Amino acid sequence: MTFPRNVALLGATGSIGRSALSVFEAFPERFRVVSMSAGSNLEALLPAIARFRPSVVSVKEKEAADRVRREFPGLRVGYGEKGIVDVATHPEADVVLGAVVGAAGLPPAWEAVKLGKTLALANKEVLVVAGEAVMAAAAASGAAVLPVDSEHCALHQALRAGRPSEVERLVLTASGGPFRTRPLETFDAITIGDALAHPTWKMGPKITIDSATMMNKGLEVIEAKWLFDVPPERLGVVIHPQSIIHSMVEWVDGSVIAQISPNDMRFPILYALTYPERVPTPLPRLDLASLGKLELEPLDERRYPAVPLAYAALRAGGTAPAVLNAANEVAVAAFLDGKIPYRSLVPVVERVLGGHRASPATSLDAVLDADRTARIRAAELVSPGAALAFPGTVAPAPA
Ligand code: NDP
Ligand code: MG
Repeated sequence: MTFPRNVALLGATGSIGRSALSVFEAFPERFRVVSMSAGSNLEALLPAIARFRPSVVSVKEKEAADRVRREFPGLRVGYGEKGIVDVATHPEADVVLGAVVGAAGLPPAWEAVKLGKTLALANKEVLVVAGEAVMAAAAASGAAVLPVDSEHCALHQALRAGRPSEVERLVLTASGGPFRTRPLETFDAITIGDALAHPTWKMGPKITIDSATMMNKGLEVIEAKWLFDVPPERLGVVIHPQSIIHSMVEWVDGSVIAQISPNDMRFPILYALTYPERVPTPLPRLDLASLGKLELEPLDERRYPAVPLAYAALRAGGTAPAVLNAANEVAVAAFLDGKIPYRSLVPVVERVLGGHRASPATSLDAVLDADRTARIRAAELVSPGAALAFPGTVAPAPA
């Protein structure tokens, strides 16, 4: 593929979306933004439209679309699922950068892949929910699916060192989040603010909560299975608090190849968008001599029960990962709304998954159906009163 690359940016107003725009700003000769989508943050979207002049834009609701149209007469502005699919399937787009959060990013990613467009994917939930169907559609259309998630970008780079048959294990690193050393008996007192204070990465709220529980790592194990076609028993997780080693490939001869770089998402965004080339960048360099200690330690499953739960969903297969993801999205939204305590996040997912009988996930309809049912069940569990049934949850203060 030649430069400039025409990019459709899904989730332009988010943490990854804004990092991507800063990359496009720094490399005007390499990227042209032909279309972009947002949810409801017009304060961030309107200046981005003025700056990058896409020809198709989409937002979540009709009212917001009307306002964008008033600001930019003549611009094609859509909304809802059809709007975001139009952004992803823009005829001039070579590559679609998926940076929506949650399963909402699945329909546009799916349509883009079916058309054979390169999908640079930060939005891991797409592969957790529908990895089997998306990768099969990509194989059929010839679309490349390139990871933007830092661990998977690291694996993608390290895997260039050998053949698939020579890989023994993929090892994902995890910072451990803000509660790596917090005494377990104080988890009842965790506030929303505590959980949003990630030690090494600045990200959107949903993935930040997922990083505290390490459901994020569970989702990433599932994501790795689909991206690299490696079964769960050959996917490992290790805690690495500094977030400098982004992941590692262990080879059959006992060698390990790790990828290291500063913890800055502009690196994986640029890698995915310029692949298979590497381009010179003015991005900050690691000062290797003054890095100091890089620690690695095993994962404590009692502290992070979300990780074994995600492995269980992956082993159950079929629609189980879609159910894990849907229940988790509902639980995280409820926690951020102050409706359930931190301690209930993983039990909600566990209950919903426990009540689900996995069925084949070869079609998009099958996973979307499982997603809908799981959301309804999870919504019941996070409704007032229901959360009290969980051990370790905090009862609301008396009125
Ligand atoms: P943010 O919450 O910061 O951004 C999410 C983006 O999606 C925003 O543009 C938001 O719009 C849009 N959006 C949310 N819901 C909808 C919807 N229903 N319909 C249309 N658009 C919607 O998330 P992040 O940027 O942190 O994360 C994006 C994805 O990338 C996630 O899947 C995350 O796991 C993954 N990721 C993120 C990393 C990071 O460093 N942030 C690192 C690795 C992976 P608006 O704000 O306008 O409402
Ligand atoms: Mg990651």
